[in-house]
Amino acid sequence: MEVEIANCIRTLRLKVKPEAYASLNAAAVEVNRVWNFANETSAKAARPFAGPPKWLSAYDLDKLTAGATKYFERIGSETIQRVNAEFATRHKQVKKTKLRWRSSRGSRRALGWIPFKAVQLKRKGTSLRFSGKAFRVFEQACLSEVKWKCGCFSQDAVGDWWLSLPVEVRAEPTVAQNEEVGLDLGLKNTVATSDGDKLEASNFYRNIEQKISQAQRRGHKRQAKRLHRRAARRRKDTLHKFSRKIVNRYQRIIVGDVSSAKLVKTRMAKSVLDAGWGMLKAQLQYKANQAGKCVFIVSERNTTRACSNCRALTGPAGLDMLAVRAWVCSGCGGTHDRDVNAARNIRFAARCSPSVSGNEPSPSDTPPSQASRLREA
Ligand SMILES: [Zn+2]
Repeated sequence: MEVEIANCIRTLRLKVKPEAYASLNAAAVEVNRVWNFANETSAKAARPFAGPPKWLSAYDLDKLTAGATKYFERIGSETIQRVNAEFATRHKQVKKTKLRWRSSRGSRRALGWIPFKAVQLKRKGTSLRFSGKAFRVFEQACLSEVKWKCGCFSQDAVGDWWLSLPVEVRAEPTVAQNEEVGLDLGLKNTVATSDGDKLEASNFYRNIEQKISQAQRRGHKRQAKRLHRRAARRRKDTLHKFSRKIVNRYQRIIVGDVSSAKLVKTRMAKSVLDAGWGMLKAQLQYKANQAGKCVFIVSERNTTRACSNCRALTGPAGLDMLAVRAWVCSGCGGTHDRDVNAARNIRFAARCSPSVSGNEPSPSDTPPSQASRLREA
């Protein structure tokens, strides 16, 4: 019997070779004009001088921009439609009459972005073809046998262009040796596992921080941006290696939802901590998906205070106890590492509340009526 395996979507991000930058920059200016047209038109329709207001959909915008391709040299109707669709989605999300303009120059310049439909990008020999222009990307070999979907070109802060391409990859379920693991995000950018493994992530900016401040002092903006990018890449790389290791080793992965209470207790950059955790969670989820493993999200409540042996709330709690890295339980006399103990509790939490799983929010995030229903279950 053949088991049908669902394919997963993975987004490849490939660097475009610099010879194509000039034409991409020019195309990005045209994309901005389409976006700004959509912004202006939607704002006028939402607050008309006369008549009933109307919230324009992507379909309406497509009708209004029909035939506009003759005013553009670099982008075709497919790109215009993709811009309209993206605009309509964002517009609906933020529920504001007007979104921010996409400026093409000056200090408020928007980073380049050119969306396209799958059919616009074609293979041609050793290069790719987009709207009549050939270009090449680094590591093109990974595109040789994949089927892609709608993607985009995007520019980073340094000014380099990247091709983001969602592709289908075959799911390949594997069996790991270990049953399950709990993961706890510590406050010092550390992830601890219930088996005592730790990821010390405080070194991303080591050596770089000094160089960044030096570059900024000398007014080398571009170099500073490069260094920031390097630190971000190191961080991402470390997280990739860590998540790969976890997915290969365990069948069930249990992570705590980041409690904002834990984050406000510290003066550390919340966004940085947040971004790292979110990135790790996303990586775990897609890698687990592809390898046929499960990721569960449980409430982090009391995971630091409870003893993972006897469940008594004897651990450190409160603001002044943040410095306590290790403690002895007064109930059973066991010695605990703060983060590993929390990770064990997170692993245990999944056993007692199987109703909270996958991508659903944990009980503490759901509206009251729903939370009480979950507790009863
Ligand atoms: Zn104990």
